[in-house]
Amino acid sequence: MKKSIILALLLGFSGVSSSLSAKTPKVSKERKAAIEACERGLSTINRASSEAIIGFLASDAMQGREAGTNYSLVAGEYLISQLREAGVEPFEGSYKHPFAAYQQASFRRPGRVWQVHPDSVAKVQEGPHRRMDLVNVFGVIPGERSDEYVFVGAHRDHWGIDPLKVGDQIYNGADDNASGVSCALQIARAIKASGRKPLRTMVFAFWDGEEKGTLGSEWFTATWPEINKVKAYLNFDMAGGNNQPENPPYFAYIYSQEAPAFGEWIKEDIEKYGLKLDPSIRPTENLLGGSDQGNFVQHGIPFIWYHTDWTPYYHQVTDEVQYINWDKLLDITKASYLNAWNMANEETYQTVSE
Ligand SMILES: [Zn+2]
Repeated sequence: MKKSIILALLLGFSGVSSSLSAKTPKVSKERKAAIEACERGLSTINRASSEAIIGFLASDAMQGREAGTNYSLVAGEYLISQLREAGVEPFEGSYKHPFAAYQQASFRRPGRVWQVHPDSVAKVQEGPHRRMDLVNVFGVIPGERSDEYVFVGAHRDHWGIDPLKVGDQIYNGADDNASGVSCALQIARAIKASGRKPLRTMVFAFWDGEEKGTLGSEWFTATWPEINKVKAYLNFDMAGGNNQPENPPYFAYIYSQEAPAFGEWIKEDIEKYGLKLDPSIRPTENLLGGSDQGNFVQHGIPFIWYHTDWTPYYHQVTDEVQYINWDKLLDITKASYLNAWNMANEETYQTVSE
């Protein structure tokens, strides 16, 4: 078996890869300062914040945050207030990035898919059609390089309510995806708390309309002129549930195989920081389905996706706060913060053979 090394270890100096400190006898002053800053941010990640964020978003008062309803907008306003308080800036002049989805006014199933791509929208608009207004929420932490981006994203919408359902009618979506939102928001706060400007510009995205067909991320990636400057995408969709009750630390860590460093980071950080996580590490090629990462894959952008795999309460009204595994979520938030730090600061994610 070939011994591989991460090229970033030779070139980068701002990341915190544990193997560098292990293999390099003299750690430069600059590198030491970067590690200290990273760990300063890491130390701010806490369980009470996860409980506060998920407790609000998955409360009955939020009525399941369905895209196109006022509740998804309220979720967005809440996130904006949190970003503002943390000092995370509006992205391209605004925290809110509105867009619209269109579908045929038809009862035939093929016509009922919501379209956001400008070409598809133009086609739908030729006939009778329906329109739904949506809003992505973004915050930005500018990096040393304004022409290289890393995105950290989670969808904030869920399934809303079913007024005809007998019994509980609210799809709270605690795991799907208030849990993922809590990770992305805490990472933004922790990066600010580190006190260090990242190498790449970091954008935090709280997508709308994922449950109706990954609409927010599709619209953004199809229309944003700078999309080819995005170097990596960190996705969260269901980060707090238990798929294997007999093994609570289990979760799926899915990543693009063209960025092998992503597969190494998780192993190194679990060991270095004593995280109680048991990831199923899954390199993939062109994973288009499942969540918002698919729209980044369309543009050749490598990703990591934190996902706790399917649970008995997936897309059920029972996806409630009481089933969140807080210990695991805390360590997932820490591990993913370290991923985000590396995505923003390591020179490259490629692996070369010796
Ligand atoms: Zn989801």
